[in-house]
Amino acid sequence: MSETTTDCLFCRILAGDIPADIIYESDTAIAFRDINPQAPTHVLIIPRKHVATINDIDPGDEEIVGSLYSAARDIAAAEGIAEEGYRAVMNCNEGAGQSVFHIHLHLLGGRTLSWPPG
Ligand code: 5GP
Ligand code: ZN
Repeated sequence: MSETTTDCLFCRILAGDIPADIIYESDTAIAFRDINPQAPTHVLIIPRKHVATINDIDPGDEEIVGSLYSAARDIAAAEGIAEEGYRAVMNCNEGAGQSVFHIHLHLLGGRTLSWPPG
């Protein structure tokens, strides 16, 4: 698996080739607002490293993947939704709704979220 791929939408956002509303950046991750938000707060948190799906996470990626949750914690606080609650979820493969094959944590909040998601 290459570190970046020119045909990956999110790698192109990382490279600055495609504009996005980037609200968070760290050494390992960035976050930007979803183009088709499903809640008042809908942010996508992605690793700088290209990893296609959860199935492709290597043992050495654990710190990177963990950093996505640290980002979610900080962004939820900044968005003012930490106390009321939010969801941080990652879809894996088409059957679960994954459409962009560069892993991303959806951070959703600002409204009541039902369960199960369907
Ligand atoms: P998935 O379906 O893979 O779990 O989530 C992909 C998400 O990426 C979707 O919520 C979709 O709205 C979002 N998305 C797709 N293309 C773009 C884009 O060009 N810019 C941004 N900001 N979000 C995008
Ligand atoms: Zn990518």
